[in-house]
Amino acid sequence: MRFRLGSVPALSASVVALALCVAPGLEAKGKSQDGGEKSKPRADSAPKKSKAASPKRAPRRGKGSESIGSPTDGALHLGVRLSQSSAVKLRWPSGSAHFGTPELVKMLKRGASKVATKYPGAVMVVGDISAKEGGKLSGHASHTSGRDADVGFYYVDAKGRTVRPARFLSVDWKGHAVGAAGVRFDVARNWAMVQSWVTDPRARVQHIFVAKHLRSMLLKHATKIGAYLPVRHRAAIAMKQPSGAAHDNHFHVRISCPRGDRECVQHPRVTRSSKAGSKKKGRRQSASRKAPTKS
Ligand SMILES: [Zn+2]
Repeated sequence: MRFRLGSVPALSASVVALALCVAPGLEAKGKSQDGGEKSKPRADSAPKKSKAASPKRAPRRGKGSESIGSPTDGALHLGVRLSQSSAVKLRWPSGSAHFGTPELVKMLKRGASKVATKYPGAVMVVGDISAKEGGKLSGHASHTSGRDADVGFYYVDAKGRTVRPARFLSVDWKGHAVGAAGVRFDVARNWAMVQSWVTDPRARVQHIFVAKHLRSMLLKHATKIGAYLPVRHRAAIAMKQPSGAAHDNHFHVRISCPRGDRECVQHPRVTRSSKAGSKKKGRRQSASRKAPTKS
């Protein structure tokens, strides 16, 4: 039966279609069947080789930045480069995928600044965003239109001191970083970052892809500290684990189409094959999951 986007709720469609970011270093080879990101054959610690193919459509000739097309089939006109600061570090400083819409880049910078102000020494680590002119990015199915960013977690050691690993570490259902003794998911700082995104005064967060068990941890923490209820609700809606991509070692944050970007397409196109592939992959993951998750 032919799948039609209009026949399902928007969020469901987007979760199926937008499972686009796979934990670097953990991906299986090949493009995920749900239209998710391709595998990255590189080692997690290896230098990033972000290579953008030519965008499928020519950017418009406007004077301002513009996101064109969808996150999986788009381009970026006059993207803004995210620069490093005391609160923001690039995972691959020599890479070329550090461009996004001003709305996204400024949101990341504001968020990093807020977290660092509240927790001195905290540093946000940002992986891929988009290539300078957008378009296909090696290892990703999305990240084509300047609206997506991969952001590492904040971690602490057993004594609560900030830890900044050289790579994105997976986190198990107890909050422990895999392969790094004593290092754990810093729920307080990570919540502060999520909160900053969903309350950003300019950008409108569409999705925050993250593993179910980490979403649960973050929301429990927010409840525990008495975070403003509407903010918790907003975060609960934004955070989701897409099918086919666990996102247990980084956040993938996507903003909605910036206002005024008339050629921006909010959701990737869902095809019959991608939907079927997503379901199939989701079933495989559920069957193979060993650790319990709380969601
Ligand atoms: Zn991503």
